[in-house]
Amino acid sequence: MTEVPPAVRDGHRAPKAPAISFEFFPPKTEEMERNLWETISRLAPLAPNFVSVTYGAGGSTRERTHSTIARILAETSLTPAAHLTCVDAPCGDIDDVVTKYHEVGVRHIVALRGDPSSGLGGTYVPHPQGYRSSADLVAAIKRRHGDIEVTVSAYPEKHPESPSFDADVDMLKAKVDAGATRAITQFFFDNDLYFRYLDRVRARGIDIPIVPGILPVQNFKQAANFAKRTGASMPDWLAKKFEGLDDDPETRKLVAAAVAAGQVQKLAKHGVDTFHFYTMNRADLVFAISHLLGIRPHGAQKAA
Ligand code: FAD
Repeated sequence: MTEVPPAVRDGHRAPKAPAISFEFFPPKTEEMERNLWETISRLAPLAPNFVSVTYGAGGSTRERTHSTIARILAETSLTPAAHLTCVDAPCGDIDDVVTKYHEVGVRHIVALRGDPSSGLGGTYVPHPQGYRSSADLVAAIKRRHGDIEVTVSAYPEKHPESPSFDADVDMLKAKVDAGATRAITQFFFDNDLYFRYLDRVRARGIDIPIVPGILPVQNFKQAANFAKRTGASMPDWLAKKFEGLDDDPETRKLVAAAVAAGQVQKLAKHGVDTFHFYTMNRADLVFAISHLLGIRPHGAQKAA
């Protein structure tokens, strides 16, 4: 059906275990911060290739993203990747953010255009002195800091603003030509969508790893809402699995683990050997799914 994505090994694990990465969002409150650090402590021993920290809409989490990344660097052996968007900022401001990251030792950025500041569904208008697209941002990062690895987004169901799949894949090609060396996908629940997308991408001559982004469904309503906003489809079979469980978090968690484990195990069976988990800052499901993929703790943390 499709080719096997190239392996991305970190050299620590048994040869058969897939490589993984985790995504976190910067915490808003002290309690959320405690929760994030418990999550990081639990997941760090799984020795992910990297952990990424998102950048809030319009740079709203600029300081929090930076301090979360700085703490990861100071207190763990994890490799952080900082998300960065072009929204509402002149090029100079964005360049400063990148330079600060570089100074503290960050060598991996997830470079994005970002959502329109008028909100999802609005029209994207670049800042008059800003980067016009994600590809421009990738090129600027690589021009100034050739040693920073740049990851970008990819959309198996195409981005909601893309007029066609071809336009969407063209944008990915532009990002790769600008220097991106990995793409992480928007989450999806139907694996065929990913494989069909991979076929399109490879046919366009793009050969970087297209890492599937996996969203364990911690909360079905929230995930459905999220999917609607990002243009990802929510299959009926998935809705049925969570039917009647609104007030039953324990069963919901078991179902969520079974669904996500089934998804990654099927992807792995078809040769996928790298996964990115949208953790929503929670460890339990991601830890269990990683365990089912054959990943075992390694003691990656410097400090508890
Ligand atoms: P791009 O790859 O730049 O564009 C996606 C598609 O939209 C393109 O294929 C193109 O066809 C179309 N398009 C782009 N610009 C235009 C235009 N001007 N007119 C018409 N069509 C256009 N958002 C955040 O705010 N912070 C984050 O930390 C963050 N992390 C993300 C991580 C991942 C892995 C993913 C998949 C998404 C993330 N997002 C984040 C969401 C992302 O910012 C939005 O989806 C945004 O709308 C598009 O930015 P992009 O870089 O993904 O898209």
